[in-house]
Amino acid sequence: MCLAEMKSRKGDNWFTVLSMIWPARCPACDKITQSRTKLCKKCREQNKEIGGACIGCGMPKEKCTCLKEALDLNLAAVYPYQGGIRQGVHAMKFRERTDLFDFFSIKMADRFRTVFPEAKIDLVTAVPMTNRGRKKRGYNQSAELARRVAWQLGVKYEKHVLEKIKETATQHTLNEKQRKKNVRGAFCVEPGVDLRGKTVLLCDDVKTTGATLNECRNTLLKSGAEEVYCVTIAVTLKA
Ligand SMILES: [Zn+2]
Ligand SMILES: [Zn+2]
Repeated sequence: MCLAEMKSRKGDNWFTVLSMIWPARCPACDKITQSRTKLCKKCREQNKEIGGACIGCGMPKEKCTCLKEALDLNLAAVYPYQGGIRQGVHAMKFRERTDLFDFFSIKMADRFRTVFPEAKIDLVTAVPMTNRGRKKRGYNQSAELARRVAWQLGVKYEKHVLEKIKETATQHTLNEKQRKKNVRGAFCVEPGVDLRGKTVLLCDDVKTTGATLNECRNTLLKSGAEEVYCVTIAVTLKA
């Protein structure tokens, strides 16, 4: 046995010992599984990545809501929002599982590249929270994702682009019509930000009806952005 082989065997043994003490868990549902970087079999089956979705609303084509919701989001989303993915997003948001940012942001960047291979992004930014909201949670999950997605894509992350100027009711308690009204005028572009001629990639965790993303996208376009794309971890299929 050569030295390199011995070293690699030693590494393997350490890996076995480590996995016994600290077993790999599924990034989404947290169950013990084979790999830290892949979803477990159950989550993979339950949350098949959405291939060939409509880019207007991010939904599978047969469930397109573009017309109904007047959406034109240029959206790439990875998963349907259900099962283990729902659990994972919750853990990331409310249980400070910040390790999940890395897992999800790699998926988001990959999905974006696949759906929009021609897009030339100048900057990546996030759907903002109000200062009060951020203080309450300690971080803005969308900004954490956006920073990592930018790094994956090799483009600039800009923290200060959009600002949330109106405290809105939690979207999931509202119906479609109320959601649209709730977010109207809720965002503005921060003073001094020049978006003229820029192509922006906007990140959020989950697209539900698309009202928030739509309002943010329109705010960016009205401020001179040339084009705006959106990317999310998941879309709610029953919106
Ligand atoms: Zn799982
Ligand atoms: Zn659509």
